[in-house]
Amino acid sequence: MSLTYATETMPLCVSNPSASYLAYKREIDEAIQRVLASKSYILGPEVEAFEQEFSAYIGTKHGVGVASGTSALELALRGLSIGAGDVVFTVSHTSGATIAAIEAVGAVPVLIDIDPVTYTMDVMELDWAVKVWRTQPIEQGRRLKAILPVHLYGQMAAMDAIMAIAEKHELMVIEDCSQAHGAEQKGKKAGGFGNAGAFSFYPTKNLGAIGDAGAVVTSNEELAWRIRRLRQYGWSEANHAIELGINSRLDELQAAILRVKLRHLSVDNVRRIAIAESYAKGLAPLPMKCPVRSADNRHVYHQYVIRTEHRGELIKHLKNHGIRAGIHYPQAVHQQPAYSGRLRCGPGGLEHTVAAVEEILSLPIYPQMSDEQVQNVIAACTLFWRSMGCL
Ligand SMILES: *Cc1c(COP(=O)(O)O)cnc(C)c1O
Repeated sequence: MSLTYATETMPLCVSNPSASYLAYKREIDEAIQRVLASKSYILGPEVEAFEQEFSAYIGTKHGVGVASGTSALELALRGLSIGAGDVVFTVSHTSGATIAAIEAVGAVPVLIDIDPVTYTMDVMELDWAVKVWRTQPIEQGRRLKAILPVHLYGQMAAMDAIMAIAEKHELMVIEDCSQAHGAEQKGKKAGGFGNAGAFSFYPTKNLGAIGDAGAVVTSNEELAWRIRRLRQYGWSEANHAIELGINSRLDELQAAILRVKLRHLSVDNVRRIAIAESYAKGLAPLPMKCPVRSADNRHVYHQYVIRTEHRGELIKHLKNHGIRAGIHYPQAVHQQPAYSGRLRCGPGGLEHTVAAVEEILSLPIYPQMSDEQVQNVIAACTLFWRSMGCL
């Protein structure tokens, strides 16, 4: 039996981690062999090197490799002593992992609506929610501690405004950077703004491992050391726990693979941006909304998310043309069974979140996509709108 990867007969999907492996196969295979031949498989020299290289790339002083993005968020929160009864302002238009991590430390997530154009936290809503929270006597006893913005689809939330609100009200900021490896605002990378930045290296992310992996970045040395302890049973040294920790270690194989992929991340992101530009040009005549890049932002297009009222029909049409579009995400977190009726939101409600969820659609985008495949997606979309009588 021969192994086939993405062939012409296979549908075109939103992401393609195996194409990313094949693109850098020689280097990745070599890295894997190096680890197999070494005497160290967990938290060894590859992890340390990756931590240094990744934090240097982001522009923070420290990086701590952990087991996943969810774990990175949880350990960043715990490392900052955010726990039982503390309140964290975040968004509902995100991966369920964002909310799960906040609840895992015992904190209470309060959901802020998104900006309907950028899909990231609406800073006016945030400002309003913080002010209301401060004046409501009913909330006494529950301390508002932090803001957890999510840099969604490859574009950063408005960090200038978020950091200003945080400073004014003495709140901590933890950035969820899992979809924003290499995204920038005013030339500064995602993860370098808040007290800590949490990254996932799930295989489909812009920087993806071949398994689960994550990292916390920070310029706070004390925090970095605390997270290093927390990721391994709370040990300050072997078999000497000084606080309760968990097992959230990063292994050498994933770290070695990530070191290879990190070397290609800039070029990969440039390719994503080029594909997004082709889409923007090709899809411009069609009656659907394309992503909007905010001024001062470098958008790295983890997803290319369009918006249309005719999503259901478009998905079917694309599927018939061998294109599997995705939805990120089909339900906001507060609408999912584990959370529904239970999560709190800010005073402004979640109008834009709920509306976006009905109309968003992710088109295929990954660095190894060919120009021809990009043009095929544009052609299929054009055909759809023609069949709808709109062109
Ligand atoms: C992928 C993702 C996570 C979770 O990362 P895991 O590595 O799967 O735990 C968290 N937040 C966002 C925004 C993500 O996209």
